[in-house]
Amino acid sequence: MRNFARKTELMRRIASLKPELTFMADFIFDHPEIGYQEVLASKLLADFLAGHGFEVERGFGGLPTAFRAVHRNGSGGPRIGLLCEYDAVVNLGHGCAHHLQGPCIAGAALAVKETVRDRPFTLEVIGTPCEEMAEGGKNVMLRNGAFEGLDVALMMHGGDGTQTDIKSMALTGMEVTFKGLAAHSAIAPHKGRSALEALMLAFNGIAFLRGHVLDDTRIHGIIENGGQAVNAIPERATASMEIRSFERPYLDQVVERVMRIFDGAALMTDTRYEVSKVYHTHNKIPVLSLNSLLMANAEAAGAKAIMPPREKTGSTDFASVMYTLPGSCIRVPFVPKGTASHSQAYLDRGKSPEAAEALVTGADILAMTALDLIEDEAKLKEIQDEFRQGKSGMESRAQSSSAQ
Ligand SMILES: [Zn+2]
Ligand SMILES: [Zn+2]
Repeated sequence: MRNFARKTELMRRIASLKPELTFMADFIFDHPEIGYQEVLASKLLADFLAGHGFEVERGFGGLPTAFRAVHRNGSGGPRIGLLCEYDAVVNLGHGCAHHLQGPCIAGAALAVKETVRDRPFTLEVIGTPCEEMAEGGKNVMLRNGAFEGLDVALMMHGGDGTQTDIKSMALTGMEVTFKGLAAHSAIAPHKGRSALEALMLAFNGIAFLRGHVLDDTRIHGIIENGGQAVNAIPERATASMEIRSFERPYLDQVVERVMRIFDGAALMTDTRYEVSKVYHTHNKIPVLSLNSLLMANAEAAGAKAIMPPREKTGSTDFASVMYTLPGSCIRVPFVPKGTASHSQAYLDRGKSPEAAEALVTGADILAMTALDLIEDEAKLKEIQDEFRQGKSGMESRAQSSSAQ
C-alpha cells in the first residue's frame, strides 16, 4: 500500500471521530427531510465543518439547503470535491441511506485536513440537496457553476457490497400537452379535435420507435390527463415522458425523434402540442482508473463484501457531475447482499452497528483516496486523461450512429 503510515494515521483519526459521526448520522436518520427541505441536516453538517476550521458557504450553488465547506492547504495542488446527499425518500424516510453520506464525507475531509500539511491541496465538501426527485439538485447546482474548478469529485453511498459503478443512464424528462377543440361527443363530434387521440397516436408512434433505437434505450410515459368529461371531446391531454439511454449525445437524437412523433400526431389530428417541465440528467463517463484506486483503498481499509462494479445502473444526478469532470462513488455495505434500496430493510438497518461501520469504512476509503490524489500527480493526470478520452469516444460514437 502506498504511504502506509499516513493512511494508518487517517484511519486512526476517523476511528476517533466515530462516536460523533455516528451521532450525526443517527440524528439525520431520525429527522428525515425530503428534497430542498433538508434544513436540519444541512445545518448540522455545515456547523460541524465550520467548527473544525472549514470555510463554510451556506445556500451554495443557488440552493438554500446546499453548502460548501472549503479547506485550503497552501496554494495550488489538486482541488478535490467530496460530495454528499442528505435528502430522505418521500413517504419513506432514510430508505436510501443518504443519512450516512454527510457524516462519512465530513469525517474523511477532517482527517485529511488534520493529517496532510506538507502538500498543497484544496478540499471542497459540497452538500447537494434533493437527489431523489425528478431533476436532482446537482443538475441545478451544475448549471450555477457549483462544481467548476474541481479536478475530481468523490462520493459515498450505502449499499449491499463494497463496489463502484460503471455506466448510468442519461435521462430527459418532459411533460407534453396536446391541445384540441372541445365539442359534444355525440351531438357535434365533427366540430371537435381530440387532444387525447393525438396523445394516443403519440404513444403508438413511440411504441414503433422502440424497434429502431439502440439497445438500452428506454422510453416510458404515463397519461396525467386524458380528458375532462366522457361526453366531451378532450380539449387537453397531458402525459409525462422519460427517455433514457446510456450516452447523452445518442439520447439527444432519440429525443429529437420523439419530438417528430409529436409533430406527426398533431398533424394527423389537427391539434397542437406544447412541451414543458423539461429536465435532463447526464450519464456517467466511467473512469476505471479512479474506480480501481477507490477499490485498492477499500481493500486497505478492510472493507467487507468486496464485489465487482455494477455494470449498468439507472439515472442519478451525480452522473451529471461525472459527465462534466472525473468522479466516482464508492458503495459501502450495511445491508445483506441483494437487499433493494428504498425498502423497509434499509430503514431497519439505518442506525445499526453495520451502518456505523459503513460510515467509517467509507470515510477511510475516501480519505485515503484523497491522499493518493494529493501525493501522486501522475495518478491524477491518468484519471483526467481517461475521462477526456471517454468523453470524446462517446461523442464520436454518437456521430457514427446518426450517420448510419
Ligand atoms: Zn441514494
Ligand atoms: Zn434513492
